[in-house]
Amino acid sequence: MRIARFTTGSDPRYALVQGEEGSLELAVLRGDPIYTKIELTGERIPLDRDDVRLLAPVIPRSKIIGVGRNYADHAVEMGTDLPVEPLLFLKPNTTVIGPDDPIVLPAWTREVHHEAELAVVIGKVTKSVSPERALDQVFGYTVANDVTARDAQRTDGQWARAKGFDTSCPLGPWIVPGLDVDDLAVRSRVDGQPRQDGRTSQLVFDVAHLISYISEAFTLLPGDVILTGTPAGVGPIEHGQVVEVEVEEIGVLRNPVLRRD
Ligand code: MG
Repeated sequence: MRIARFTTGSDPRYALVQGEEGSLELAVLRGDPIYTKIELTGERIPLDRDDVRLLAPVIPRSKIIGVGRNYADHAVEMGTDLPVEPLLFLKPNTTVIGPDDPIVLPAWTREVHHEAELAVVIGKVTKSVSPERALDQVFGYTVANDVTARDAQRTDGQWARAKGFDTSCPLGPWIVPGLDVDDLAVRSRVDGQPRQDGRTSQLVFDVAHLISYISEAFTLLPGDVILTGTPAGVGPIEHGQVVEVEVEEIGVLRNPVLRRD
């Protein structure tokens, strides 16, 4: 099952994405499936209809929790040691954009990187959950680009600005519930050229462990999002380029890059 959030010009709605690539259809849902039982309205809309635009499949209700250096080969390329416990940071929900929305490079950075990541969408209020029960709290999985101003990350000390600026969290194209995420390819491309090619089996701390660890610090709310870390191959994105991040079994999230200054 694939759950998308979309607009045809008015208020956002939710739908199941059905069919095959090239002839996908939106089967429209009543309400927000994170909070209400899945119920079809009967309306069906071709995904490629001119007025249809996919939106970020979730706007995190309270927070996005990022995990730093959770792939060993990425820690090596950053010249850092592997963390002994998950390294957490926060991105505000104002970072979120959807498929095809532009990543806008801020004037104060000259070095912005893409980071392809598997994202976890929380489905239930979660506090101090054990790793064994952690996956019961998951609504589904989507694709994220943890866009990072690498120069500011090095100089600021805190990562709030480097990873928290507007448009730095593309999410989409939709949410897939019930996915086995133990060994999925995580990739990125810039203008079609491969940049990252990792697998979730290489995660230092797996999804169940991350949810448990994070829930010892924060109460997770339905709609909160966890970014699980990025594999090696991060690199710069520049004005005019198009960056794609992909997680196997979920889909491709594509965003143009824009510099206004
Ligand atoms: Mg990251």
